[in-house]
Amino acid sequence: MAEILVLVDHVDGAVRKTTLELLTLARRAGEPAAVFLGTGFDAARDTLGEYGAAKVYVVEAPELEQYLVVPKAEALAQIAQSSGAAGVLLTSSPEGKEIAARLAVKLGSGVITDAIDITVVASEIVTTQSVFAGGYTVTAQVTRGTPVITVKPNAVTPEATGGSVGAEEKVAVAFSDAATKARIVDRKPRAATGRPELTEASIVVSGGRGTGGDFAPVEALADALGAAVGASRAAVDSGWYPHAYQVGQTGKTVSPQLYLACGISGAIQHRAGMQTSKTIVVVNKDPEAPIFAMADFGVVGDLHTVLPQATAEIQKRK
Ligand code: FAD
Repeated sequence: MAEILVLVDHVDGAVRKTTLELLTLARRAGEPAAVFLGTGFDAARDTLGEYGAAKVYVVEAPELEQYLVVPKAEALAQIAQSSGAAGVLLTSSPEGKEIAARLAVKLGSGVITDAIDITVVASEIVTTQSVFAGGYTVTAQVTRGTPVITVKPNAVTPEATGGSVGAEEKVAVAFSDAATKARIVDRKPRAATGRPELTEASIVVSGGRGTGGDFAPVEALADALGAAVGASRAAVDSGWYPHAYQVGQTGKTVSPQLYLACGISGAIQHRAGMQTSKTIVVVNKDPEAPIFAMADFGVVGDLHTVLPQATAEIQKRK
């Protein structure tokens, strides 16, 4: 069976959930082979095997220590060429997309971004994309060379196989001068919130313009539920919450088990980032707000009253 390469997204060996989604998807198209770049593979081995990586290509090189895209693209290109892979899957993050674009150029093939599914039709990988804020579903295919595909986070549910890594191959990569020309001179980690990562959280509590700039009740409810906090663009553009937490067409895509939209009207661009959430709960003081149309449960009321009541009730039951 042809190998489908999956670029492992990790920090010092801690594998992100998006990689497990890619491995799950890769199994539909061939034999998943993970590509682990950088240090920490020992910490990642079991997880990769458990989610179906039959083989892992490992590249440990000083050029990869700074998490830069150029050396990653070079390493991935070398492995894709030598392995004769049938496709390469990466996460649809800004970094994943940049590596994908560079990789496709190096391979002389094509790139498809933001896929939500892949299937194999007549031995060719065919992707599904959701475009124009979910208004259209597109099927697309790379017509020459090795398809390079980025997949949206939360598009598939990761499924463990209970397996283990069968083969490990250490690869020595000959990096070009370009790979060492850039370096990171400073790194300022975002202050830790103690909350789960927005795109990986199983519960997300989001606030919009209806918060009036006061996110305290949104954060308190999120903390009571062990949830991540999200925000609408109106809240972000008003400077009330950082852009990293924006949900929607020009923000992050989330697909949690439970999404609470608080003081958010439900514009199509917001819905594009959360419409695949399994259960949607709405708190809005306007009973005519469009977001109620997609709600599984809705509360008509002022979020500054409703959210503290919900938080207190959840804490009582803990
Ligand atoms: P509003 O639409 O103003 O809604 C506020 C809601 O809060 C209202 O329904 C109101 O009834 C309710 N409310 C007010 N006070 C209270 C209260 N005290 N208690 C309870 N409810 C209350 N938007 C995104 O979110 N994400 C995106 O990624 C995004 N990308 C965009 C890209 C483009 C190209 C464009 C043109 C727009 C984009 N937008 C995006 C903006 C989008 O069109 C909306 O303007 C935005 O989502 C509105 O945010 P909101 O729902 O918080 O604000």
